[in-house]
Amino acid sequence: RPFTMLARHWVAVTAGIGAVVGFCACRLWIARQIGETVDALGESRIDPDLTGEEILLRSALWLITIIVAEAVLRYLARRWIIDSSRKVEARLRRDLMGHMSRLPLTWHDRASTGDLLSRMTQDVELLRFLIGPVIMYGCQALVIVPGAVILMTNLSPSVTLPICGVFALLLATMAALMPRLQKYSKRVQEGIAAISQHAQESFSGIAVVLSFAKVRGFTDRFAGLNEQYVEDNMAMTRFRALVNLAVHTCTDLVLLAVLVLGALEVIEGNLTTGELFQFLILLGLLVWPLMAIGMILGIIHRAHAAAVRIEEVFDATAESTSGTTVDLESSLRVDNLTFGYEDVDRPALENISFSLPAGAKLGLVGPVGAGKSTLMHLVLRLYDPPRGTIFVGGHDILDLDLSTLRGLFAFAPQDPFLFSDTIEGNVRFGISTDFATDGSQTAIVDAVQGSALEQDISSLALGMDTVVGERGVALSGGQKQRVSLARALAANRSTIMLDDTLSAVDYTTESRILKSLRGSERNQTVIVASHRLSAVADADLILSLRNGRIVEQGDHATLLANGGAYAAAWRAQQESRALGGED
Ligand code: ATP
Repeated sequence: RPFTMLARHWVAVTAGIGAVVGFCACRLWIARQIGETVDALGESRIDPDLTGEEILLRSALWLITIIVAEAVLRYLARRWIIDSSRKVEARLRRDLMGHMSRLPLTWHDRASTGDLLSRMTQDVELLRFLIGPVIMYGCQALVIVPGAVILMTNLSPSVTLPICGVFALLLATMAALMPRLQKYSKRVQEGIAAISQHAQESFSGIAVVLSFAKVRGFTDRFAGLNEQYVEDNMAMTRFRALVNLAVHTCTDLVLLAVLVLGALEVIEGNLTTGELFQFLILLGLLVWPLMAIGMILGIIHRAHAAAVRIEEVFDATAESTSGTTVDLESSLRVDNLTFGYEDVDRPALENISFSLPAGAKLGLVGPVGAGKSTLMHLVLRLYDPPRGTIFVGGHDILDLDLSTLRGLFAFAPQDPFLFSDTIEGNVRFGISTDFATDGSQTAIVDAVQGSALEQDISSLALGMDTVVGERGVALSGGQKQRVSLARALAANRSTIMLDDTLSAVDYTTESRILKSLRGSERNQTVIVASHRLSAVADADLILSLRNGRIVEQGDHATLLANGGAYAAAWRAQQESRALGGED
């Protein structure tokens, strides 16, 4: 995938590769020029009409020209190739984010935040390395190594041949050691992932950690992970140091051998002093490409693992957003719906059937785990229900365009989530962007009043401009729910879904909100799940759920007359209210 993306930047990359070839040629040329200058100054002067100073000046001018050309080409190569790799990185990360946000909730349920973050950062960065630095250093090695070997062979084949043998042996050793290095670097990568995951969990669950007095256990575990990480890093550093030492010592020994062998050739008259000079400089040029080849082999291995992890995400099938785009009426029909979560044996909902006309109110009641939230999530198609079981406006929701379907609903989830934004920004979130600003302002004011958020706003110094969420002021659970409720009210969609959200307000406010929702102006379809039965008492249809099944259904009066669990719970809650408790 990254290479396909790189193809879009082929002009810059080709120019960059050209520049790499250019500056490597300059490097080789400099070696040659220095050798020739030494010879020209010595006995074997090339041009006897020139003085030593003139030869030196001419040579210096040449060298400066080549050095400047090399510097310019080096700069351009880096810019063209590395810039392209950065653009590919940005594109890859954007595509990955885009794809992840279209993946169904079932996929996200199983993914860990730490793991996703490391795919978005470390893995993408490794792939960038593969296409940026690897192309750059790889091309350098491809030009410098054969170039230097050819020039050296021209100077003295008998000295070059054994050098090639030693370097080939060195490369083979490095390739053989690579799996070991991979092992160390894999451990280091896993170590940092474990540290981030642990830190992330400790911070998000800090209240639980503190309240259970488990700080010590958590810090000890963190210290253990940290120590392991340092140990793995040190083991890798020791190993790398040994490899570096081997490469450098080996090249130094080769240099020494060349000096001796070359000097003998000079004495025998087969080589000039300048040529020996040239030979030594060319040999020096070989060290970095050899190290780079080792590094590239390492990166290729790690980048392959990163590519596999990234492809795993791209391979996951995104939600199908396509479908019929129609003007939908918000009537709801559920037909014999049975649904179970993946990898869970027992169905969360069984044989659910009911129908709700547009503008009517549905109440969902039942104990913890009864399936109230699941039903709402299925209607929103956060999870796909079986075909032919849920119909909105007469259409099977599986056939509807996702944004058309979800555009009908304003949802206040049980577990409210606030973005790191102002309260106003959070409330405005659900308002469609083409809504006139004045209109949206009125909607926000109404929603703030409607959700009883005013009382909280007045106690905050910055009021609606108070930043909340991860980077802002910490709100109480109830306050968060009220902001989430205001967000749903402000959105003014044709159906409002409140998943136990009304528990965040007192009984009087609850009645006010319910009244305003049913007001003739709004005429919204309302779906409310609640533990507090007063929140559903005015519903046209109440489903009393238990273990995923409907145990009773009807309106409030019917259910009271039935004298079942609903009637008993109603009486208990009324008595508790009469005694002074809210519920
Ligand atoms: P509560 O009043 O506590 O919110 P609820 O009536 O909303 O309960 P649901 O959240 O719909 O109940 O849960 C119904 C069942 O489905 C429970 O047994 C729960 O464990 C299971 N369940 C809910 N969400 C998932 C999920 N994402 N993966 C697997 N099982 C789930």
